[in-house]
Amino acid sequence: ESVVNRIAAGEVIQRPVSAVKELVENSLDASSTSISVAVKDGGLKLIQVSDDGHGIRYKDLPILCERHTTSKLSKYEDLQSIKSMGFRGEALASMTYVGHVTVTTITPGQLHGYRVSYRDGVMEHEPKACAAVKGTQIMIENLFYNMIARRKTLQNSADDYTKIVDLLSRFAIYHIDVSFSCRKHGAARADVHSVATTSRLNAIKSVYGLSVAQNLIKIEAADNDPSSSVFEMDGFISNSNYVAKKTTMVLFINGRLVECTALKRAIEVVYAATLPKASKPFIYMSIILPPEHVDVNVHPTKREVSLLNQEVIVKKIQSVVESVLRNSNE
Ligand code: ADP
Ligand code: MG
Repeated sequence: ESVVNRIAAGEVIQRPVSAVKELVENSLDASSTSISVAVKDGGLKLIQVSDDGHGIRYKDLPILCERHTTSKLSKYEDLQSIKSMGFRGEALASMTYVGHVTVTTITPGQLHGYRVSYRDGVMEHEPKACAAVKGTQIMIENLFYNMIARRKTLQNSADDYTKIVDLLSRFAIYHIDVSFSCRKHGAARADVHSVATTSRLNAIKSVYGLSVAQNLIKIEAADNDPSSSVFEMDGFISNSNYVAKKTTMVLFINGRLVECTALKRAIEVVYAATLPKASKPFIYMSIILPPEHVDVNVHPTKREVSLLNQEVIVKKIQSVVESVLRNSNE
């Protein structure tokens, strides 16, 4: 049984960056205003995510890492209207099958916090009282210690740390009311450092730099015709002065970080046609759709979305991008 659990867990948590994504989403679900990530050895030695959210109640600690246990979804019907990012209760449990998980947490009004470690879906010992600051800290040590082949592949591949920095950068420019930091464990300098702000451009500047932020154009689109498509989009796209070899597309749909290859390609086509001398674009977009028009019940590692009326939506956004680019270039 333990092998089966481990294989299933290895599917949910495919690489260090998948663990970081789940942990940060949990911190966001806990209404945190500040989230710090520290990583050792590309996440294989250590991933540590600290937040200042609402914490975990003592009585929830024993079941925290049981599979399919979640505090966020009480009935299946809630799935359509769910506001939190987590709903499967699968992530933390999975991490305990492929790594060593230690949770330190304190809930408001308590004099001390608790620390507890988990293995294979269960607590290793009773929670121990400990000093704690507001919120929760989750530590994953020795990820994939029991999956030799996976560890080898990851050690030989490019450092997952780059992927983790990229992930945090994306979260930071969407959740601008939250402070984010990401660093190599023990390093003085953070590689992502964004302070809560009310301006998206400020957030983009502090994460991606002035060279990106000063070359962006605001973009908006909406449709409210139930017979074709219903959506609202707002974001920023790069102008002709922006320089990059690769497209950066940061896409959030209904608050979830996702990918939509069809939309990305459609926008790249417009850039190539409208600004043939410009580089590959930088695109930040947030799209809001009726929840029942987005397939959220996808596998945790599948970031590619499918939307109802996707073609219509892609065409509409494409034409808005085109007219914005033309105007900016006149
Ligand atoms: P899900 O997010 O799908 O509910 P997870 O396995 O990611 O499942 O987390 C299990 C549960 O642990 C969550 O439902 C939540 O109650 C609790 N939890 C995890 N991380 C945090 C955190 N940083 N702050 C508060 N609660 C947390
Ligand atoms: Mg979760």
